[in-house]
Amino acid sequence: MKLQNYVRGEWIEGSGPGDALVDPVTGEELARASTQGIDVAAALDFARSKGQDALGKLTYEQRAELLGKMAEVLAANRAEYFRISQLNSGATEADASFDVDGGVYTMKYYSKVGRSLGAGKRLKEGAQVPLSKTGVFAGQHFLMPVRGAAVFINAFNFPAWGFCEKAAAALLSGVPVVVKPATSTAWLTQKMVADIVDAGILPTGAISILCGSARELLDEVREEDVISFTGSAQNAGRIRSHANVLKRSVRVNSEADSINSTLLGPDAAPGSDVFNLFVREVIREMTLKAGQKCTAIRRVLVPRSNFAAVSEAIAAKLGEVKVGNPRNKEVKMGPVVNKTQQASCFEGLKKLKEECSVVFGGSESFQPIDADPAKSAFVQPTLLACEDGASAKYVHDVEVFGPASTLVAYDDLNDAVDIARRGLGSLVASVFSSDPAFLRDLVLGIGDLHGRVMVVDPSVGKEHTGHGNVMPSCLHGGPGRAGGGEELAGLRALLFYHRRFVVQGPPSLLEALSQESVDASLLYA
Ligand code: NAP
Repeated sequence: MKLQNYVRGEWIEGSGPGDALVDPVTGEELARASTQGIDVAAALDFARSKGQDALGKLTYEQRAELLGKMAEVLAANRAEYFRISQLNSGATEADASFDVDGGVYTMKYYSKVGRSLGAGKRLKEGAQVPLSKTGVFAGQHFLMPVRGAAVFINAFNFPAWGFCEKAAAALLSGVPVVVKPATSTAWLTQKMVADIVDAGILPTGAISILCGSARELLDEVREEDVISFTGSAQNAGRIRSHANVLKRSVRVNSEADSINSTLLGPDAAPGSDVFNLFVREVIREMTLKAGQKCTAIRRVLVPRSNFAAVSEAIAAKLGEVKVGNPRNKEVKMGPVVNKTQQASCFEGLKKLKEECSVVFGGSESFQPIDADPAKSAFVQPTLLACEDGASAKYVHDVEVFGPASTLVAYDDLNDAVDIARRGLGSLVASVFSSDPAFLRDLVLGIGDLHGRVMVVDPSVGKEHTGHGNVMPSCLHGGPGRAGGGEELAGLRALLFYHRRFVVQGPPSLLEALSQESVDASLLYA
């Protein structure tokens, strides 16, 4: 099977052999993807003209209704998406749910909050600014949806959620989307787009998909387009520094990898509720989606006095995790996505082992349940330990994109803050403690270098949303190494797809322009 591309309102197959999509449990080829021979420039033009015209005629409220219909179609096809997730990503039921249900939830969320923007087509920001003594000349700021295409270059680990979270905000803004999922797991995104197209929900040109490498995309983007990239820090840099992107100042949002940390407070004694919640979260983050989450915990910061107790508690729980073929109902953790990712995890672990000891796992010849290690792409859950975080290098820099975390000892609050900051910008950190002063000082010590900080004390207990779980109502993104991007955060996400401009002129004209505008303060409601 070759995945078809959907461009200019029609399904087209790329030429040449394309790249293979495989089952990471059996190693079997499932499909091929190619964008060879696809006229990417024409695809973008079609989206900018046809898609833009049609979406631009609709109000925010009407577009929100379209999102609601898309969510319904996606929810109706959930079982098929789970099947594809298992085949192409080696996903367990919980992994597939995280991606697919997370995506549908996000789409529904934007449909709901988008309705609150009512019948407007653009946003008005603030009041008129007087610019003349007599009042005949004034200024008014507006936020206008961009008149180009929203180009999504997505990572392999969230083929469903990654597509939904970006598409929801762009379409609600009235901007047509051109999605390029990562080739290795493009099947699921392609099926979702196909279901949306078949349901006839969106106007022609509002959605396009390129299944394959499509490297020429960046050469074809223009001033009025926006690029939203999710993937490795290395490729984020490549995209930001692409000559055409730079020359035309194309707006880019980058969601890159990050060396996220979780911290246990010095007050949390072994066996206490907070200690147990912390251990539970580390296990969940290491094993869910086999650790292939940009938000997963990579560094586990623990007071030196409790280092041994935490190591033992996490290692004991990891020993209970059944790893293998997700078709076996007992299995709780599946493989990484393919042999290339497995090799990259092994390479990263080798580096980490240069400065860490192995507490649990770490074997390359580990035997998964119901799978052949020679054909499959498993990585054993691996817990490492680093007692000297200050002089460690790789621990703060190497992202093993799999089920691996490193315990790092800290001595006091300042030390914990310094170590967390060594990630040089992260998507998320979580803190587990019952000490309000410690929590406050820690959050303030790391807040500027993190997109999100999650705090758990006994009053929160198990009711938190999860270290690695991205809520559409809250910010996703992070500074520095994490890409410097911002996504979600409720309707604030629409800012990326709008451009601010000011009109200076007679107040009557400004009033007329305000007629179809909605107050931008609603984005912060
Ligand atoms: P990746 O190798 O950087 O690829 C990401 C996307 O970029 C893919 O669609 C890839 O296409 C495309 N791409 C690569 N080079 C390109 C170029 N020169 N021009 C245009 N497109 C290019 O990342 P990945 O391996 O798919 O994903 C794993 C990484 O993503 C991890 O590091 C993870 O931390 C990060 N991630 C971050 C977030 C976040 O929200 N911050 C979320 C998920 C994942 P092909 O597949 O066709 O090569």
